Amino acid sequence: MSAQIIDGKAYAAELRSRVAEYAATFTQAAGRKAGLAVVLVGSDPASQVYVASKAKQTVECGMASFEHRLPEDTVQADLLTLVDALNADPAVDGILVQLPLPKHLDEQQVVARISPDKDVDGLTPLSSGRLALGQDGLVPCTPLGSLMLLKDRLGDLSGLDAVVIGRSILVGKPMAQLLLAENCTVTVAHSRTRDLPAVVRRADIVVAAVGRPQMVRGDWIKPGATVIDVGINRLSPEPGQTKGRLVGDVDFAEAVEVASAITPVPGGVGPMTIAVLLRNALVAAHRNAGVALTEGAL
Ligand code: NDP
Repeated sequence: MSAQIIDGKAYAAELRSRVAEYAATFTQAAGRKAGLAVVLVGSDPASQVYVASKAKQTVECGMASFEHRLPEDTVQADLLTLVDALNADPAVDGILVQLPLPKHLDEQQVVARISPDKDVDGLTPLSSGRLALGQDGLVPCTPLGSLMLLKDRLGDLSGLDAVVIGRSILVGKPMAQLLLAENCTVTVAHSRTRDLPAVVRRADIVVAAVGRPQMVRGDWIKPGATVIDVGINRLSPEPGQTKGRLVGDVDFAEAVEVASAITPVPGGVGPMTIAVLLRNALVAAHRNAGVALTEGAL
């Protein structure tokens, strides 16, 4: 039997239209648009594409987009000055500094400088602390998007065994916190985990965030499990092709035969990330402007 394919693209489109709806009521209530600022340092081609796409989708949702493109040789002090200015700007509700930054810059210091009230990426120490303490705050976009897909598919996650493969600050750790808050029994696996296939085989929910193409095999998956594949890896091009295929961290063809539901790559978790970024910006806008947002609306 083949698994249900979890359509992240469709879910993300629905989320964006809810964001657009609430962005319009926010504009009426606050007398201004919600605003998202994106800072890009340097000319990394992938980052350029992400930033352009974020700006376009922000505007399409009826929010204001502020783009700041700085040269590759920007010094730390100037970048911190810009972050301070955005922190102080009442038109800006969310600040996203596109990572990775060029090597000469201290990424941790820059991220930590973002006001936690505007931390739409959920990466500042205060946002991580709030998540760990179960307090209201802004949560990293990719894990929150993954959780939305899981809850949409499974409803109550309470008591389920979840295995998160990967323990990065960006994905694995916040994902584990979110699942714990949903009362899952959570195992976080990483490169030193012993007998990973056996660990994964216990899971009702598998979240793979490793960055290794098709590493998780079909026979690692417990029959009926739900699989969220966060990985985005580009394979080497086939003969005659210029670009390689995008694949996840899970061997989709194998896992789809065993799981009860699985996210594809592309079209699974990927589209959720920007949609949740817009959601986070709008949630921050409501808090910053003191405008009430219906509980669970977004
Ligand atoms: P990182 O490289 O920061 O972390 C990878 C994690 O995987 C580490 O914790 C590492 O363990 C673990 N790992 C590496 N090799 C193995 C192994 N053989 N067995 C078990 N665990 C292993 O990656 P990210 O978390 O940033 O990203 C993970 C994937 O998700 C990437 O493919 C990335 O492209 C994708 N991604 C997708 C996004 C989206 O929008 N869909 C957004 C962000 C990321 P250790 O800590 O021990 O080194």
